[in-house]
Amino acid sequence: MDYQSRQNTLQQTLDTQSFDGFLVTHPPNLRYLCGYTGSNGLLLFLSGRRVFFTDGRYTEQAREEVHGARVIIARGPLLNAAAKRIARLRSAAIGFEAEYTSVAAMAEMRKLVPRGIRWQAASGVVMRQRLIKDAEELQIIGDAVQLGAAVYEEARAAIQPGIRESEVAGKLEYAARQAGADGMSFETIVAAGKRGALPHGRASVQPIPARGFVVIDSGVILRGYCSDMTRTVHVGRVSREERRWYKAVLEAQLAGVAAVVPGKTAGEVDQAARQVLRSAKLDRYFTHSTGHGVGLEIHESPRLGRKQAEMLAPGMVITIEPGIYIPGKGGIRIEDMVVVTDTGCRVLTPVTKELIEI
Ligand code: ZN
Ligand code: ZN
Repeated sequence: MDYQSRQNTLQQTLDTQSFDGFLVTHPPNLRYLCGYTGSNGLLLFLSGRRVFFTDGRYTEQAREEVHGARVIIARGPLLNAAAKRIARLRSAAIGFEAEYTSVAAMAEMRKLVPRGIRWQAASGVVMRQRLIKDAEELQIIGDAVQLGAAVYEEARAAIQPGIRESEVAGKLEYAARQAGADGMSFETIVAAGKRGALPHGRASVQPIPARGFVVIDSGVILRGYCSDMTRTVHVGRVSREERRWYKAVLEAQLAGVAAVVPGKTAGEVDQAARQVLRSAKLDRYFTHSTGHGVGLEIHESPRLGRKQAEMLAPGMVITIEPGIYIPGKGGIRIEDMVVVTDTGCRVLTPVTKELIEI
């Protein structure tokens, strides 16, 4: 990973925004900027230099992983160690990650530095950089998606009436671990029959009924990067109405994918998918946004929701996942991961979206 250029880019942002320093605490941002994968860490950009703080448990790990920063093993709270360095400046504006800093931490930070030091809340500074994935990241994400698809296929083959949702999820997760995944992007969703109407129905001990839709939403983490996909299969023969529902969701998903073009807004993609469901008079059952960014985190920017003004750009990796949830009947969702290209997008998820009857 090119940590050096990531740090340089952040430094340029800090310079243009007149920050004398910046405190990074969010673990995915630490990993992105310097390679550290442990939990307790803090990266301080100060006067053009980088200092990384952690505690004694991570001495070895930090020496191995941290790039482009001096590693300091602090005794006591990392914040105190960082504040000591900052205090040497006497007068400075230091940014911090507002969305990951608690009110309690903020009060502590104020106490630890002299009056001349101004803490400045900053949001999304590192995330804005992470929006556009570089070639190495795209390679790993592609591998994660492939692995996620392979273990999904394995789990799907196990679906039959009577098997518990949790067993299907277990097979999927076991296969992922066996294949070398770091873990799962989130708790695997297997929601059958009426439970499918819960958009985030975690796999339960309920057996899969004799007929109805089964929603499987899963993702693996590979070398730090997440995958995310959803497919909906049907146990037993589908009715005409169910086929109509599935077709509408699939068409909405395809319309969403077709709308992914650099220069369009995230909201326009959401609108494209939503419009198809509106025409089918099913939009009131589509209760979430059309998609989200994926990378080191399972949900990151941009969000593809109504009226979202974020402009799509080449190198962004997003999901397109419309769904409908009909109370008492069930749910249908279809989700692919796509990468925005110069002219449109490339679908990464290599799994059929045709309706499968089991
Ligand atoms: Zn998903
Ligand atoms: Zn998703």
